[in-house]
Amino acid sequence: MMDQSGHGILWILSAPSGAGKTSLARALVAATSRLRDSVSYTTRLPRPGEVDGADYHFVSPAIFAGMADSGDFLEHARVHGNDYGTSEQWVKDQLLAGIDCLLEIDWQGARQVRERLPGQAVSIFILPPSLEALEARLRDRGQDSDAVIHRRLAAARDELLHYDEYDYLVVNDHFDRALADLKAVIHAEHLRAVHQRQVLQGRLRALLGL
Ligand code: 5GP
Repeated sequence: MMDQSGHGILWILSAPSGAGKTSLARALVAATSRLRDSVSYTTRLPRPGEVDGADYHFVSPAIFAGMADSGDFLEHARVHGNDYGTSEQWVKDQLLAGIDCLLEIDWQGARQVRERLPGQAVSIFILPPSLEALEARLRDRGQDSDAVIHRRLAAARDELLHYDEYDYLVVNDHFDRALADLKAVIHAEHLRAVHQRQVLQGRLRALLGL
């Protein structure tokens, strides 16, 4: 389905909520050339300040179901009671144009991408430094009740259970260090021979006198 003749790399970023994934992803995209964040489709209602088309494409359950039925999604999953999905066409267009795509998706979506595109995606899991730090971050988000905080912590643990399915683990203890780790991973992946063979085709031919 998706040959990678455009050389773009497909990145998957997952984390338990409260680990700082969204801020890290934003900083990573701002600091990295030729890397774009995929805007997911969701049935969740926008939170205050969220912009349709920028944070998510906010759609009704009926529209989402129609897109799923038409095979528009590279992956889709139900997370915390709402549906989320990644546009296959968008991802395909970026990769063919030689642009890396960053998918901020949960473990279920990550599994689907690995199954559909074996060996093509590189996945990174962001770990919080400790349970205490995670709880503090979840509490910082608002004046939520203990019951809500506990539900979020339980959901975070469910996500954490899947850390072992990922290619890279990055601890978000210090933001700048975690960001540097992510940049290092991206840089190293681009140097892998499987990508360099395509990028350096002309140079390799010249070096070999072909
Ligand atoms: P939130 O609603 O708080 O922005 O996101 C909730 C969860 O949904 C996060 O864990 C996020 O990674 C996940 N998510 C966001 N977009 C997608 C998507 O397109 N596919 C999947 N599988 N998960 C997503």
